[in-house]
Amino acid sequence: MKISKRASSVSPSLTLEITAKANKLKSEGVDVVSFGAGEPDFNTPDFIIDAAKAALDCGKTKYTPAAGTLSLRKAIVNKLKRENGLKYEPDEIVVSNGAKHCLHNALQAILDPGDEVVIPAPYWLTYPELVKISDGVPVFVQTKEEDDFRLTVEELEKAVTDRTRAVIINTPNNPTGAVYSEEELKKLAEVVLKRDGIYIISDEIYEHLVYDGAKPVSIASFSDEIKNRTIIVNGVSKTFSMTGWRIGYTASNRTVAKAISGLQSHETSNPNTPAQYATEAALCDGGHGGSFVKNMLKEFDERRLLLMKKLDGIEGINYVRPKGAFYVMMCVKNCFGKSSRGKKISTALDFANALLVEENVAVIPCESFGAPDYVRLSYAISKRDIETGADRIKSFVKHLN
Ligand code: PLP
Repeated sequence: MKISKRASSVSPSLTLEITAKANKLKSEGVDVVSFGAGEPDFNTPDFIIDAAKAALDCGKTKYTPAAGTLSLRKAIVNKLKRENGLKYEPDEIVVSNGAKHCLHNALQAILDPGDEVVIPAPYWLTYPELVKISDGVPVFVQTKEEDDFRLTVEELEKAVTDRTRAVIINTPNNPTGAVYSEEELKKLAEVVLKRDGIYIISDEIYEHLVYDGAKPVSIASFSDEIKNRTIIVNGVSKTFSMTGWRIGYTASNRTVAKAISGLQSHETSNPNTPAQYATEAALCDGGHGGSFVKNMLKEFDERRLLLMKKLDGIEGINYVRPKGAFYVMMCVKNCFGKSSRGKKISTALDFANALLVEENVAVIPCESFGAPDYVRLSYAISKRDIETGADRIKSFVKHLN
């Protein structure tokens, strides 16, 4: 049977391949340490679960407006004002099924076939696939390790063409942990504003997970002009450990919001109704959300420092100090050309496969994140696992010959 060109153009995820192997070993009783997690290992806080239960108990089980309930959109407007200094109206907000769905909607709303989307590499592996699904063309810009993998003005200038329709900025970044400064974002905004018709898609899903005094800034906050050109993508998955609830949102100008909402009305009608009420509780000003995030951040920071300390003790391995999210990108280039029990390691995928087989440690090879010399380690796991896993990586690297 025929499969569409669109579906065939999507690359299978290497992440899933390693995760599936790790899960299989775990199910066989093997003591696997997995650095693969892409979600916080905390429970969704009780006050959020209670809000969902209360919504169910009082019959909030029907369709809502396609863009989400007005009360949730108002809560998002308040959040954007309070935390980001941004002024939006509820009809500029669209709530969707997770930030991933928001990204898809945003690209569907602005791309025509052949339109280019600039994606700084390393990138979250879903971006290029979503661009292709929307008939767009991903244009990758290789950022440099010495710039902490942050896109520079010169790099952006070179990548922009007459066909450029959008630039994706993800700060804090998955997989690098990079956080852009206000100054850097201002300069990038200027490049975009010099040209007509280019949007910034600003993925701010990790905004609350920042360390070393780094401050999350929304590129939309610099002027009305740049706000009008920005589609903010955010959600509650990472901040409130709500990955399974599937709620994200876009904030954009009214024209884009209307287009997104129109598309969504036919795609999914509306995002899950009780989950919208749970999200409203999460975003409530002065609620319990603040203390939950603070505690989670403190724990993540301790784990980040622990993982870095352990990696510092492994000869031949280096990494760029992450300032946000919950990932460390570890360079394994020095291991290429060496062998593990007679098996040659030539790629990050080879490294990840051999590490899993030899030491029962799962890491994510970054070929499909646009960083072929690296593997990604998530520290959304216990400190004990971080210690054990890093010790096993050390032993693995030491025995390569
Ligand atoms: N953006 C980035 C950079 C991510 O890493 C992820 C999830 O891993 C998402 C968006 C998707 O978030 P959600 O679970 O809300 O769809």
